[in-house]
Amino acid sequence: MPTDAPSRGRLRAASPEAIAEGAALLRAGALVGVPTETVYGLGADATSAEAVHGIFVAKGRPADNPLIVHLADPADLARVVARVSPLAAELAARHWPGPLTLVLDAAEDLPSVTTGGHPTVGVRVPDHPVARALLATADTPMAAPSANRSGRPSPTRAEHVLADLGEHVALVLDGGPSAVGVESTVVDARGTRPVVLREGAVSREALDAADAEPHAAAPGSRYRHYAPGCEVRLVAPDDLPATVARLAATGRRVGAIAPSALLPAGLAAATAAEDPVALAHLLYDALRTAETRGVDVVVVATVAEEGIGRAVMDRLRRAAAG
Ligand code: AMP
Ligand code: MG
Repeated sequence: MPTDAPSRGRLRAASPEAIAEGAALLRAGALVGVPTETVYGLGADATSAEAVHGIFVAKGRPADNPLIVHLADPADLARVVARVSPLAAELAARHWPGPLTLVLDAAEDLPSVTTGGHPTVGVRVPDHPVARALLATADTPMAAPSANRSGRPSPTRAEHVLADLGEHVALVLDGGPSAVGVESTVVDARGTRPVVLREGAVSREALDAADAEPHAAAPGSRYRHYAPGCEVRLVAPDDLPATVARLAATGRRVGAIAPSALLPAGLAAATAAEDPVALAHLLYDALRTAETRGVDVVVVATVAEEGIGRAVMDRLRRAAAG
């Protein structure tokens, strides 16, 4: 290894000792890779403007794209928001710990870099034992966006975090593959009905949300998102075998993500996903694998836009546009 190589973050299995080290690093202002039930987060002390600034530098993230603040316990909500609406209290009671982010008026003393300069803050209590132990030990709210370079597929394994951000992160806690695989649902909870700002792991069906369509998109949503270093093409399941054959005939390296019955043999990268829940779980890893194998174009079978299928299709469309 060349002596002038940049220092790399370390990957540690998430033992109690490793979690204690992660908590100490957070308190010292460092960046820590953290497993959650949705995707891996890039954590920093949300109350330290300097530490949070490091997240934007590491990710190459636009400064007006706000971060989600993670709490150990719903009772900590008052540390980061100005007031808790009755709707927020109800949603928190029903969905926390879990993949639902509530947007509320930010507490006055929360650094503006954490909120991307917005008067509101997105906040949630993650449903992952490692994330919660880290938060409880550090005893501070943690700003943690997905731990990928801005615009790339989110990380669902500790190795993905090192691949994208190894030079910026002090430590990555390895908690195994993320269970859900897509990000949290973001809901404006300041009013009397939940307004979905970003589709995610908690379905509209489970939320009984006011709006049939997002009527106010989340601030980050205009940026490039979730795109791997290869082309992504979406097709109806019935059309997948013919599309793959046509692309392969032009000499391109082709990958596919689809139910196993539709996957042609002999692809450069083939990932079987039998249903939308399975697709959510493995989507980002499959896109990163296709990229690593030098695939030119990965063809993905679409799923119905219901339940978690809405979030999956939202991510796929953005990946295909990237
Ligand atoms: P990430 O953690 O990478 O999934 O990104 C966090 C996303 O949550 C942002 O890009 C926004 O879409 C959303 N978000 C966070 N805070 C707010 C907020 N105060 N208002 C609206 N959306 C937010
Ligand atoms: Mg993200």
